Amino acid sequence: MTDRLPGFNTLAIHAGAAPDKSTGARATPIYQTASFVFDDVDHAASLFGLQAFGNIYSRITNPTNAVLEERIAALEGGTAAVAVASGHAAEFLTMNALMQPGDEFIAADKLYGGSINQFNHAYKNFGWNVVWADTDDPSSFERAITPRTRAIFCESIANPGGVITDIAALSAIAKRHNIPLVVDNTMATPYLIRPFEHGADIVVHSATKFLGGHGNSIGGLVVDGGTFNWAGDDRYPALSQPRPEYAGMVLSETFGNFAFAIAIRVLGLRDLGPALAPFNAFLILNGIETLPLRMQRHCDNALAIATHLSRHAAVDWVSYPGLESDRYHGLARRYAPLGSGAVFTLGLKGGYEAGVKLVSNLQLFSHLANIGDTRSLVIHPASTTHRQLTDPQKISAGAGPEVVRLSIGLEDPADLIEDLDAALSA
Ligand SMILES: *Cc1c(COP(=O)(O)O)cnc(C)c1O
Repeated sequence: MTDRLPGFNTLAIHAGAAPDKSTGARATPIYQTASFVFDDVDHAASLFGLQAFGNIYSRITNPTNAVLEERIAALEGGTAAVAVASGHAAEFLTMNALMQPGDEFIAADKLYGGSINQFNHAYKNFGWNVVWADTDDPSSFERAITPRTRAIFCESIANPGGVITDIAALSAIAKRHNIPLVVDNTMATPYLIRPFEHGADIVVHSATKFLGGHGNSIGGLVVDGGTFNWAGDDRYPALSQPRPEYAGMVLSETFGNFAFAIAIRVLGLRDLGPALAPFNAFLILNGIETLPLRMQRHCDNALAIATHLSRHAAVDWVSYPGLESDRYHGLARRYAPLGSGAVFTLGLKGGYEAGVKLVSNLQLFSHLANIGDTRSLVIHPASTTHRQLTDPQKISAGAGPEVVRLSIGLEDPADLIEDLDAALSA
């Protein structure tokens, strides 16, 4: 082999993995064990003191999870990654490493609904304050910065689908104020967008969605871009100050450009505990092997269906950046030239009643609250996920009464179109 780096398809299959040293097993084994035997007393002491890398206990590291961690770090172009129990755990452990009570972070207003809840409500218990900015107006992020701002958070392709974020514009603002930019890359995956190439510092994922890709396991990932300089920065004591539990070790000094990933592992997983089960890591690794093939088919199917629906008599509007007429089409061509993802919304002329009827009449689409499955999925947010909001709140969240969200799967597009047409005319 030459010095040339392997391509994305090769990395998706091989990064982090090798035949098992003791058995020759070619697929990554599931190391279904809680803990690991030490060589001797000195070995144990050096592991606990962070002087040597190795396995102690599967809450902190596990060999199956380690393959997943190396693979996502390679696909994203980061320095290291940490696998955690869910996408929400990835967001929480990230903020836990960055925030002190009374600190703030700025979040884009178009986000996964669960993230909005986590930021608005759960984080209050920790004294972490979210300040909302307009995803479509980068200058609104800069205006929101105060001396207590510790991070900027956005999604690359944002919920409820059909929104492309100008990551480079947000990165320029973050760099001007020396604040890390955290990008949730769940909807795009590194196949469509690699946020580090546009100036992100940390990437988080819900691996539950397109990375796993088969709707069978909950998981999350935090990826360290290795770009932010934490050393000597008092705003980030977890990274820049001596750790009493590690004999005064300063993570940014000892671990350099992967100190953030270490902080997630030794301060997040070790102390707070949302570890990923090795079996789920195995399923997510299997999913990632076909990520390039699946994502391309997801995008191609979604574009075919969005195009069909945009011409349908019962449909008022379709919000999909892959459509040339879409307001995000320019950003889509710049950030995601291979496709605009699988998730998008449409508005029905018949309003709330039509939305409920469509969801009830579809046969091939499953009515549920998830995205990124091989199967096509549908939800009517106003009667489900956004039901508790007032009407004006629903509209500003992109969940007005007429809105239906689709996550397009890998079936034959002709069958999906037939199902949609039948349900729309029923
Ligand atoms: C689903 C999702 C999450 C939360 O992930 P879980 O694995 O469900 O905890 C976070 N961000 C985005 C964009 C998501 O779609």
